[in-house]
Amino acid sequence: MDDWKSNSRINLQKQVKLTQEHIRILIKHAKESSPHESCALLFGNIEDDCFDVKQVFLTRNIDDSPVNFTISNEELLKGYQEAEKRKMDVVAIFHSHPDSDAHPSITDKKYMQINPVPWLIFSNKSEELKAYMLDDKIISLTLNIT
Ligand SMILES: [Zn+2]
Repeated sequence: MDDWKSNSRINLQKQVKLTQEHIRILIKHAKESSPHESCALLFGNIEDDCFDVKQVFLTRNIDDSPVNFTISNEELLKGYQEAEKRKMDVVAIFHSHPDSDAHPSITDKKYMQINPVPWLIFSNKSEELKAYMLDDKIISLTLNIT
């Protein structure tokens, strides 16, 4: 029935799928970059509401800052070319918060508008990894760890 279909569509929650190994690489990068923020691009495929991460592409934070991050244009270009070569997309952006919670800052929210993919944030402070996306408002995404 139509009702059932529309209900099931509403219940489909956006999720980011990644492995324990991806998380280990990201957390190691975050710890090694501390006290500065670390950043990375996540390559993979998007299917319906699932962002399936297949590869982590570590990048350098050219801001060398504990509260901001910038990936250089050169490295962004290299990342997008690398993803394309492997027939993947940049499905998510990762960065860390060395000294605050795993929640988007005001600056993050601004850049989330420009980059409408899931944003993964790791807090070195609480050791939590969380995913968000801007969809009218900030929504929390489920992490599906395999
Ligand atoms: Zn941030």
